[in-house]
Amino acid sequence: TAALSIKNLEKTYDNGFRALKGISFEVQPGDFFALLGPNGAGKSTTIGILCSLVRKTGGEVSIFGIDIDRDFPAAKQMLGVVPQEFNFSQFEKVFDIVCTQGGFYGMPRALAEERTEKYLRKLGLWDKRDSQARMLSGGMKRRLMIARALIHEPRLLILDEPTAGVDIELRRSMWEFLQEINAQGTTIILTTHYLEEAESLCRNIAIIDKGDIIENTSIKSLIKTL
Ligand code: ADP
Ligand code: ADP
Repeated sequence: TAALSIKNLEKTYDNGFRALKGISFEVQPGDFFALLGPNGAGKSTTIGILCSLVRKTGGEVSIFGIDIDRDFPAAKQMLGVVPQEFNFSQFEKVFDIVCTQGGFYGMPRALAEERTEKYLRKLGLWDKRDSQARMLSGGMKRRLMIARALIHEPRLLILDEPTAGVDIELRRSMWEFLQEINAQGTTIILTTHYLEEAESLCRNIAIIDKGDIIENTSIKSLIKTL
């Protein structure tokens, strides 16, 4: 089974705008996959549907064979999402932001604490564990979002423009971190509008434009055709 299967996915917003015009693609287990497209193409809409922030108006989505309409809680256990906007409380402490998330997945407190330490250390945030989130730099907040998305060790991690507004040095270290967890078996999908980012990280790619998939291939064959 595919890690992610999207079939004829449609989204028409309440104002009548067709953000997704029936897109289909699959991502295989273990892949590092890029959804590339210009601003407004429909990338965030697609991700919003996956984490049920956006209601789809047509089509089907399965995560490791589980249809999100049939059993969203089971699908959610296998999915970690890092949205673009910072959606944690600015006044909560870094440790608590990550640890509390464990509770949402029904994790015992001791395990949630252990995983929180593990991922805060991996992401270079352990020294900041007692700081309120508002004290962190933009890049640190981005890493906090990643730590929180990994607390239940999802098989599929999806990141929406993870390096937008991040300086080149930090971008490199985030890339290395993502490659490391991909090498350990986590399937990764990221959205980006930088071809360069897709090229240096990903094996396969779908290009989305104006709500349609216009290309779906390996990075290698895409580069050959350019
Ligand atoms: P991307 O993430 O690729 O930049 P989005 O998925 O955010 O693109 O947006 C796709 C299109 O849908 C854009 O034209 C955007 O303006 C439109 N859109 C996004 N959210 C809404 C909404 N709530 N109502 C109407 N149109 C929206
Ligand atoms: P900025 O103020 O530019 O946003 P950050 O606070 O995001 O910087 O990053 C601070 C430092 O942490 C940077 O020098 C960066 O290289 C380092 N760093 C970034 N990611 C990691 C990581 N995964 N593990 C350890 N250190 C990291």
